[in-house]
Amino acid sequence: MIDSCILRVTNRCNEKCEHCCYRSGPECVGQMPVETCEEINAWIPWDIRLTTTGGEFSVLDNYPEMLVALARDRKCIRLITNGFWSHKDKRIKRFFNTIKQIQKVCKRIEIGVSNDGFHKWDNYYAHRLIRHNGLGIHLIPMARLTVDDIAPIGRAWNNKISSRRADHCYCKSTWSLAVIEDGMICRCPYGYFPWKHFSETTWYDAQRHVWDWRERQLALGMNCHMCMETVEADRYRKLHKTPPTNDA
Ligand code: SF4
Ligand code: SF4
Repeated sequence: MIDSCILRVTNRCNEKCEHCCYRSGPECVGQMPVETCEEINAWIPWDIRLTTTGGEFSVLDNYPEMLVALARDRKCIRLITNGFWSHKDKRIKRFFNTIKQIQKVCKRIEIGVSNDGFHKWDNYYAHRLIRHNGLGIHLIPMARLTVDDIAPIGRAWNNKISSRRADHCYCKSTWSLAVIEDGMICRCPYGYFPWKHFSETTWYDAQRHVWDWRERQLALGMNCHMCMETVEADRYRKLHKTPPTNDA
């Protein structure tokens, strides 16, 4: 059963990677309001691990308030970042001040710096900063992914990035539930197939629904390509009112 929550707090990002499963980029404007962060924190049981992802949270002006609101009174918060905060002294200071604030309200902070060979930023510098800052943050090793490791969904699917993991189904193995910046609970852990707004249900009902949905769809042979083909076919049908040619 699902035991962690992935929160996409923004789809805005300083980068626009070709493989991005969330299709994030500088032009995206989605951002979770601080009040929603407070409500979501109250909605998710305190001992369920909460992982924030994006986009990149540190491009947002008010990210310290958002993260503190999400972390308050929790057992663990995990922050996924591409290290944007590490590229200017002012940003580094702000980031570590935020971490200190979070430490006052949350038992454990874990940070994962994406260093998958697709990013143009030097993310090892961010790693080094965290390792040597002496604040007691837990650094989560993030795989140095190659094209063969990525799931061909999102922008990777649009760009026709082929991967040996064409049959990759993250929903088969993940134990997490995804909520995106507008508060919608998604059935796919990559933020697709929105179900309903978190305020319309409970954490436990959402868990049950999403888990049952994944089991049913997987039993029918769902995989990432099929999912994205379904989405793409739907989009294409709406645009052109005819079925797409599948050359992916
Ligand atoms: S840094 Fe991450 S969130 Fe941003 S575009 Fe790249 S893969 Fe997507
Ligand atoms: S198979 Fe579908 S639901 Fe599962 S992870 Fe892939 S895109 Fe998401």
